[in-house]
Amino acid sequence: MTRRNHDIAELRRLDVAHHLPAQSSYKLQRDIGGSRIIVRAEGSTIYDGDGNAILDGMAGLWCVDVGYGRAELAEVAREQMLELPFYNTFFRTATPPPIALATKLAGLLGGELQHIFFNSSGSESNDTVFRLVRTYWDIKGEPQRKTFISRRNAYHGSTVASASLGGMSYMHVQGDLPIPGVEHVMQPYWFGDGFGEDPVAFGARAAQDIEDRILAIGPEKIAAFIGEPVQGAGGVIIPPDGYWQQVEAICRKYGILLVLDEVICGFGRLGEWFGFQKFGVTPDIVSMAKGLSSGYLPISATAVSRAIVETLRSVDDDFVHGYTYSGHPVAAAVALRNLEIIEREQLVDRVRSDVGPYFAAALARLAAHPLVGEARSLGLIGAVEIVAEKGTNRRFGGREGMAGPMVRDACIAGGLMVRAVRDSIVMCPPFIITHEEIDRMVAIIAAALDQVAETLRALDLP
Ligand code: PMP
Repeated sequence: MTRRNHDIAELRRLDVAHHLPAQSSYKLQRDIGGSRIIVRAEGSTIYDGDGNAILDGMAGLWCVDVGYGRAELAEVAREQMLELPFYNTFFRTATPPPIALATKLAGLLGGELQHIFFNSSGSESNDTVFRLVRTYWDIKGEPQRKTFISRRNAYHGSTVASASLGGMSYMHVQGDLPIPGVEHVMQPYWFGDGFGEDPVAFGARAAQDIEDRILAIGPEKIAAFIGEPVQGAGGVIIPPDGYWQQVEAICRKYGILLVLDEVICGFGRLGEWFGFQKFGVTPDIVSMAKGLSSGYLPISATAVSRAIVETLRSVDDDFVHGYTYSGHPVAAAVALRNLEIIEREQLVDRVRSDVGPYFAAALARLAAHPLVGEARSLGLIGAVEIVAEKGTNRRFGGREGMAGPMVRDACIAGGLMVRAVRDSIVMCPPFIITHEEIDRMVAIIAAALDQVAETLRALDLP
């Protein structure tokens, strides 16, 4: 492969002059003289334009599950582009790749989830959920069932509907969200909100908050509950045992649809193909994206139960929803091959019985660090909580969000890409990460914690 030479200084100048990156401070972008330019990647390592090799502890953005540099995905895209680069699925047409991919997904999902609607992003998938669920209840003759229940600190995307479904208050401030008809309840964040309480009792309390809200609004008005099996962007929040069973039971009790957002958890992240399998619940609708194509092309999928599709098929009307790129043939062909790679290389098993446990053991060593309040993981996703006082969840400076970014910056400077969510360092490496790379991740985080410890302690003085 020929490597292109980039003029990095010029790219950074043009980045400030013309490019608005996603979810960014444009003042900071300007003040630091432009974004870090990532120019290539291989395996679990990304390379920036300044020649730094950085271990990618985030699999891109929770998505590059099969790792970088998969030539066969490029070849599949090339073949499909030459044969049929595009045709839509409006107007009673379809193309072979989305049909093959839908069939594959139906097999992996199993049970009643046998129908797939395609979109290009996780946000779009959840917008599909929003309109599909309301349309379903209209057809069922229960048009008053309009309200969605979600959790505070959930992430479901950045479009108007998906950011409303999400529970990020800092996102709601921009654009006057949420739109009407979305209610946010407690999240099952034991370390932050239930510290000192028995975790299972805390989980039950978080589930009970859902039922209380349903009863306060009126069960006949509730359309669906939506949640991520493990909250990702919210800080890798792993619910206590029993939580999901209780949520499912509450949904069934009141006839409410259960929607799982598997955009991060799907395709093996938790050591099972899907998070709902890990937690032993049966959703009516599942959103998927990211790992579906390992991020090689934008594609997402919304899986829908047979019963819902039967209802949609009980009327002549079109479901008047869909995107130009719904079922994009190139994206679907690449996604299908990506799933074949995951199967062929037994990457779900690898997460469950090899790198997942190895990652957990490495994090357990990190848990002994004086600045670490908790290190948690499930499969190959995890977080480290930074605290000012061991044995408590007290934060440096008495407020959240001071320590996290400092430790993150030290990690990146040390050669590890991770993210900070408030005061936790979150990790979501590719499934192909090696034991040596996991050890290196943990060593870099430990060194970063040591490096900033003194500064943090000085800032923490009353
Ligand atoms: N749902 C979840 C659980 C996510 O983590 C994300 C992205 N981080 C989304 C939805 C939105 O996906 P996208 O950015 O592709 O729109």
